[in-house]
Amino acid sequence: MWETHRYRVSSRLKSKLVQEGAVLGMEARIAVLGGDGIGPEVTAESIKVVDAIGRRYGHRFDWVPGLVGGRSIDERGTAIDSDTLNLVLGSDAVLFGAVGGPKWDDPLAKVRPEDGILKLRKTLGLFANLRPVKVYPQLIDSSPLRADRLEGVDFVIIRELTGGLYFGKPKRRWENTRGRRAVDTLSYTEKEIQRVVRVGFELARMRRKRLHSLDKMNVMETSRLWREVATEVGHEYPDVELIHMLADNAAMQIVTNPNIFDVIVTENTFGDILSDEAAVIGGSMGMLPSASLTSIPKLNGRRRRGGKPSLYEPIHGSAPDIAGRGIANPLASMLSAAMMLRWSFGLHKEANALEGAIDGFLAEGYRTADIASNDQVPVQTAKVGDMIAAQVGD
Ligand code: NAD
Repeated sequence: MWETHRYRVSSRLKSKLVQEGAVLGMEARIAVLGGDGIGPEVTAESIKVVDAIGRRYGHRFDWVPGLVGGRSIDERGTAIDSDTLNLVLGSDAVLFGAVGGPKWDDPLAKVRPEDGILKLRKTLGLFANLRPVKVYPQLIDSSPLRADRLEGVDFVIIRELTGGLYFGKPKRRWENTRGRRAVDTLSYTEKEIQRVVRVGFELARMRRKRLHSLDKMNVMETSRLWREVATEVGHEYPDVELIHMLADNAAMQIVTNPNIFDVIVTENTFGDILSDEAAVIGGSMGMLPSASLTSIPKLNGRRRRGGKPSLYEPIHGSAPDIAGRGIANPLASMLSAAMMLRWSFGLHKEANALEGAIDGFLAEGYRTADIASNDQVPVQTAKVGDMIAAQVGD
């Protein structure tokens, strides 16, 4: 599975692909951190389908495995060590599975599997977390929302990931004669706001050209700065409609009128809460991808050389309850891999082909165990990979 492949493309196919606007003959080195539980199972299927894309479009993908999470704690005593970090830093992108499980859940443990993710975010400077929320018509019945509210829902939440309340200093707890106290600090520089808001505008420009910027400017100074900076950046994007909305109002709109949204950009804590709220409307954990970016994606962007790699992962966890049974849904991981093709390598056509194959798989009525109805025979994890690889490899 971890081999290096080089694919040859016939000259006829090559000229056809060039006419279609494809980027040909790209080579990329991808760090694969499968992690724990179903992480390695779903990641293996993503590798399978991206390799099929490589064969179809003439790209070479080198997959380099690394240890992270619980397995890394077991083997190396830390959730991520310098070998893995060096491997990641020498890669063009990171495909991540999931970490954690009951084996490493001891609340008194000194190291936790999640430390590996936090270390990666910090080391790579993954400042923009993208979570697409798409309701597949075929899966509408799995959503907790009424079907009439879900028509056309297709938006992306961008959460600022390296600043704000989770990182600001002082952050501490103490006790004095009046009792216990604690403080967290919400702080942003204009540069931190500018770069993540730009991700929002660039993305909106590639979609339906509407950006909601969420804040709490009625009560918070950082939010007033956020709104001011977002408005300033907006002048560079006159073609994108910028709508400021209070984060609490957005929380209501996500469950009452989710189809008003195209792209949402917001602060770390608001984004954490709202992206989880938005995740459930899609219906299944096994369908939701994410990307954590280190640079601003550009329209018609090609692969950036140099710089730190971005990271792509399904939003679900390691699902220990189903690990090793061959029934995990690999589609969220595959959709994350499609985001990698698009945002790290500028392979838009290839990303569309992969997403289209996933749409086709669902449209033909195939389901994995988590989204199958009682009368359906679910497709096993590895079989899903085979079917989608065959589809994109045509
Ligand atoms: P989970 O996402 O692992 O599982 C929640 C439920 O969804 C389970 O019933 C599971 O079987 C199901 N599920 C999740 N992904 C699925 C898939 N691809 N196909 C089919 N069913 C799927 O969340 P949890 O149970 O709260 O957490 C389990 C472990 O994962 C914990 O140790 C937690 O800390 C960790 N976790 C890791 C990450 C990450 O690595 N980014 C994220 C969330 C949770």
